[in-house]
Amino acid sequence: MRTLTGIPETQHACIEARRNGRRIGLVPTMGALHDGHLSLVRSARSQCDFVVVSIFVNPLQFGPNEDLARYPRPFDRDRQLLESEKVDLLFAPDAPSVYPEGATTFVDVEGPTAVLEGAKRPGHFRGVTTVVSKLFHIVQPDFAFFGQKDAQQAAIITKMARDLDFPLQVVVCPIVREKDGLAMSSRNAYLSPEQRKQATVLYRALSRMQTLADSGERNSSALIDAGCQVIAEEPAVSLDYLAVVDTETLQPIDDVSHGALIPIAAYVGSTRLIDNIQLHGVGEAHRLVR
Ligand code: AMP
Repeated sequence: MRTLTGIPETQHACIEARRNGRRIGLVPTMGALHDGHLSLVRSARSQCDFVVVSIFVNPLQFGPNEDLARYPRPFDRDRQLLESEKVDLLFAPDAPSVYPEGATTFVDVEGPTAVLEGAKRPGHFRGVTTVVSKLFHIVQPDFAFFGQKDAQQAAIITKMARDLDFPLQVVVCPIVREKDGLAMSSRNAYLSPEQRKQATVLYRALSRMQTLADSGERNSSALIDAGCQVIAEEPAVSLDYLAVVDTETLQPIDDVSHGALIPIAAYVGSTRLIDNIQLHGVGEAHRLVR
C-alpha cells in the first residue's frame, strides 16, 4: 500500500491506474477506523482493482462548537488496518493542501441538505459535498463507497453525483452494528462504559418502530410516539430528533406504506450519536444493498 499526502502525486497515481485499465474504488473516511469503515473497504476490494481510501478530518464539515480538535486520529493503527485489507493507496492530505489560502469555491446541494442533520448542523453538508467533490476530482473513481449509517449524507452525495454528472457509481453499504445493536461510529470512543450501555437505547427505539411497522402500523406519528417512549426510558439520553422521512428527499411523510427512512439523533452526555433504519414499502422486495 502506498501512502500519499500530496494531491498532485495522488492524482498521478490514480491516472496511472486508470491508464492500466484498473477499475478504481474510493472510500472516503475521517479515520479512527472500525468495522463499519472496513466493510466499505471490503466492498470496494471485491468490486474494484485499485482501492483508494482517504483519511481526512475535514474542518469544513465541523461547526465552531463541534469536536474537530478532539476527533480521534490514530493514524498508524488506521494505516496498518488498511494495509491488511490490501488497500492500494491511502490518501491522507493535510487541511492546508485541501483548502489552500484563497480557495473560495464550494459545492452546495439544495433540498435534502436543509433538514435533519443539515438543520441541526448548519454548513455541515456544504463541507461534506465540497470535500467529496474534490476527492472525486482527485481520484476519479469508477465506484465510491459510503455507509447507510450516514443515510442523509449518502442520499445527498448520490444526488450530487447525478446533478453534477460525476461519471461514477455511488455504492451505499449497510450499517455495521456492535453485538448489542449500537451502530459502529468513531464517536463511540467518547462514551464512558455507562454511557456506552445507555447508547443502546437508540437502536432499541428504532427496532421497536420496525416491529410496529412490520405488524402493520403505517402511521408515522404513531411510530414516532412509540420510538420516543423507548428513548424516554433512558433519562441520560436526550433526543435531538426522531423522524419518518422519504428516503430520497428526506422530507417528512405521514404514511410509510411506500417505504421510509427513520433517522434518529441523540445526545449521550455531550456525545451526539446518529442512527437510522429503512422501512420497506408494502410488497416491496428488500432492496439489495452491497
Ligand atoms: P466517517 O469516517 O465517519 O466520515 O465515515 C466514513 C464512511 O464510513 C461514511 O460513508 C460512513 O457512512 C461510513 N460508516 C461509518 N460508520 C459506519 C457503520 N457503522 N456502518 C457502515 N458504514 C459506516
